[in-house]
Amino acid sequence: MNYPNTQLFIDGQWRDAADGRTLAVLNPANGREIGRVAHAGTPDLDAALEAAKKGFETWRDLAPVERGRIMRRAAVLMRERAADIARVLTQEQGKPLAEAKGEAMAAADIIEWFADEGPRVYGRIVPSRGNPALRQLVLKDPVGPVAAFTPWNFPINQVVRKVGAALASGCSMLVKAAEETPAAPAALIRAFADAGLPPGVLGLVYGNPAQISAYLIPHPAIRKITFTGSTPVGKQLAALAGQHMKRVTMELGGHAPVIVCEDADIALAVKSAGGAKFRNAGQVCISPTRFLVHRRIAPEFAAELAKHAQGLKVGDGLADGTQMGPLANPRRLTAMTEFTKDAIERGATVLAGGERIGDTGNFWQPTVLSDVPLQAKVFNDEPFGPLAAIRTVETVDEAIAEANRLPYGLAGYAFTRSLKNADLLTRRVEVGMLWINMPAMPSAEMPFGGVKDSGYGSEGGPEALEAYLNVRAIAVMNV
Ligand code: NAD
Repeated sequence: MNYPNTQLFIDGQWRDAADGRTLAVLNPANGREIGRVAHAGTPDLDAALEAAKKGFETWRDLAPVERGRIMRRAAVLMRERAADIARVLTQEQGKPLAEAKGEAMAAADIIEWFADEGPRVYGRIVPSRGNPALRQLVLKDPVGPVAAFTPWNFPINQVVRKVGAALASGCSMLVKAAEETPAAPAALIRAFADAGLPPGVLGLVYGNPAQISAYLIPHPAIRKITFTGSTPVGKQLAALAGQHMKRVTMELGGHAPVIVCEDADIALAVKSAGGAKFRNAGQVCISPTRFLVHRRIAPEFAAELAKHAQGLKVGDGLADGTQMGPLANPRRLTAMTEFTKDAIERGATVLAGGERIGDTGNFWQPTVLSDVPLQAKVFNDEPFGPLAAIRTVETVDEAIAEANRLPYGLAGYAFTRSLKNADLLTRRVEVGMLWINMPAMPSAEMPFGGVKDSGYGSEGGPEALEAYLNVRAIAVMNV
């Protein structure tokens, strides 16, 4: 399938920007332009906001089971179209075809879970303190039109978590997806449109991210903001939302510790954390990044992780057998060069990779660094790439202290056979999601979100719907 150009989706119509402006979309495997994406200006945003207001009025009054029916049809379409969507996603983002197809298929699961959960949004009846004629009701109503900002690393998944929860709660949503990866999110929105979603319930725009967020967040039509991206940008957007008293969900950066205890199953730790580390070339907010390994087993663990990294087949995501694709944009390539150079200068040892592959496309070797000093940039700033940094620790307490040292608190991993260690880690590691003796396994039914500088709010489980609901207290005296 040829890579498609992407238009804006406003009021149930696919259309070009009013002024005809477009941006180039590049294939990260070769740097070549593969298509164009429409660049919205203020008139387009105004039309999208008006449509979102109207769409909300229609959608909130539809019975939750009927909303669920439309959503489930969208899920079926995503599954039917997954192979084609995957090719589009791989061309614009770089990830291997199997990962891209997995993302499209997972979107269907997420939509279905939210479709089922929508009808379970209940209020409650609270008995009066003394007057039997008093009926006290707690109602949960959709907040209204939502503005969503999503990044390029999981162009479908980052959108569908927001869209699924918002639609199930009765909200309309205007999505500003990533300009670098526009066609895959457009395919998701198209599945909803083709499933019979009323006009205006979902909108999709692209353009200048800073200008669009500065326009949408304060706009009176928008009642809630949800953003996935870096911590610095998230803080700016949350501050702006605060000035306008808008509700906010923030899914921001992470720097996931991987605590490998003395009693860990080393093979399991290498397989689980190694697999998670290089998935999507490490451009994952929950990617394992700081490996804190007990001194006694560190040499074996590091050697095995390096072997795993060296064995990965890196190439164009469309090619057969590719296990890791290019980085999604040249900014990540620059970042990998800087992180690696800085770590080596500070005394780290390169056990695997450490260099760019070729000079075409954004390919970087799966990299493992050991003996990385705490001061190294890679142990402090989110690497967001295929870079594993290892340090040794003497005790579990030392590992926990290091895990909690940074302001990030998104994901964490631990490997231990001891119940006592597992319990201690569960209680003390300051992260929103902790996986013990396993790779990351996010699912629609479990909360997804961080603590500390990694943000607030959740994009999974019933909590994800709460984020799109207002709680209202109603008292009726039966006179
Ligand atoms: P960036 O911080 O400039 O952008 C991150 C995302 O936010 C992009 O999708 C971008 O379009 C959007 N964005 C930027 N400024 C914005 C604004 N003012 N208003 C609305 N949206 C805005 O950096 P980048 O080079 O694209 O990505 C690098 C960093 O972003 C990574 O190091 C990582 O920390 C973070 N990131 C996190 C996630 C995640 O899943 N949490 C995803 C992608 C990127």
